[in-house]
Amino acid sequence: MVNRMRHNRSQRGSTRSHHALKGIALTKCPDCNSPVMRHQACSNCGKYRGRVVINLEKKPKAVKTAKVAKAEKATKPKKSEKKTEDKK
Ligand SMILES: [Zn+2]
Repeated sequence: MVNRMRHNRSQRGSTRSHHALKGIALTKCPDCNSPVMRHQACSNCGKYRGRVVINLEKKPKAVKTAKVAKAEKATKPKKSEKKTEDKK
């Protein structure tokens, strides 16, 4: 970068004035009125465009986030360690 290309504080600021993050656009589910992300199925009733796409009656096992899984792994003893203890 050449000094000629350098912007002054005002120019930098006016550029960055457009860099702020905007909130997510939420709409209301027409069936249950809960907030829903656009183009995604409702997490409350499992419907998308009036059609059930996710069967929420049969609840799947709670999905562990990577952070939680890592924390559990750290606290629990490793399987390989357990096996070696049993043999002794
Ligand atoms: Zn819904």
